[in-house]
Amino acid sequence: MSNTEADPAELLCRERPGEGVTVLTPRDVPLGGPRAIRVRRTLPQRQRSLIGAWCFADHYGPQDVSDSGGMDVAPHPHTGLQTASWLFSGEIEHRDSIGTRAMVRPGELNLMTAGHGIAHSEVATVATVSTPDTAMLHGVQLWIALPDEHRDTARDFRHYAPPLLRLPGATARVFLGSLAGTTSPVPVFTPLLGAELTVEPGATLSLDVDPAFEYGVLQDVGSVTVAGAALGTGELAYLAPGAGRLELTNPGTEPARVLLLGGTPFTEELVMWWNFVGRSHDEIAEYREAWQAQADRFGRVEGYQGTTAWLPAPTLPQVRIKPRRNPA
Ligand code: MN
Repeated sequence: MSNTEADPAELLCRERPGEGVTVLTPRDVPLGGPRAIRVRRTLPQRQRSLIGAWCFADHYGPQDVSDSGGMDVAPHPHTGLQTASWLFSGEIEHRDSIGTRAMVRPGELNLMTAGHGIAHSEVATVATVSTPDTAMLHGVQLWIALPDEHRDTARDFRHYAPPLLRLPGATARVFLGSLAGTTSPVPVFTPLLGAELTVEPGATLSLDVDPAFEYGVLQDVGSVTVAGAALGTGELAYLAPGAGRLELTNPGTEPARVLLLGGTPFTEELVMWWNFVGRSHDEIAEYREAWQAQADRFGRVEGYQGTTAWLPAPTLPQVRIKPRRNPA
């Protein structure tokens, strides 16, 4: 998905691990364009830019695309990151400058590596969904920052449908990294975890986790309690490194679904602006210029049927760098 904020700020992310548990509340961001959805954004924000290498988290829906027109994001670029698309319901048609055309479907990971540069489009409208069932758009869009030694890697696209794991009091789909004895085969560039967990009513899920990781618990439907904090829809609990066990309790009467994100603290300094991740203002300006010139760096998306051929980048901010306060 594109970060379609009209006037995105340039963010300098200089992150350190925090302490204990912190609940990050989402802010509502309307994604622009004629067919737009609202998202609940928990990363990046003032208190925290990253959890492991996870540097962007948008949670959206459920929204019926036949009522709202749906979502239509024209070809736009990315650099220096991977995008992880995960749906709870609905269907999104993805096209990219590798030549991929893929349907993003519930319970299936689509991991796109931008590396040096990629362009892609994402569409979920009555024209792309196959049945009324798949018209209910509900999911998350996540970005993963690439470490310096791999951030100029070649563009790539992977699809992976993890098996449904049955655990005491819960089910899990592990789409990145290792959890509960299973490992995703999808390659990543830093130690990372991504899993969907559904905790049964009244149950507590107890997981052995890597104490070197920091974790985020992103609440979808229902509500879990983690380290004494009860989460509301779209909230993200941050858990500092050091714990070898994670417990999620569902005190409610309906299943509670979360995404568990984790990774070793990502300590490289990043500059994030619009759809780019770089290391300096000058790099970001160079990426922007290359996109505006439709340079080879990003390639071409074929077959996108929209009203605009591609999304132009917003104007760069006047301020060279907007520093962010480190977490306490
Ligand atoms: Mn995108």
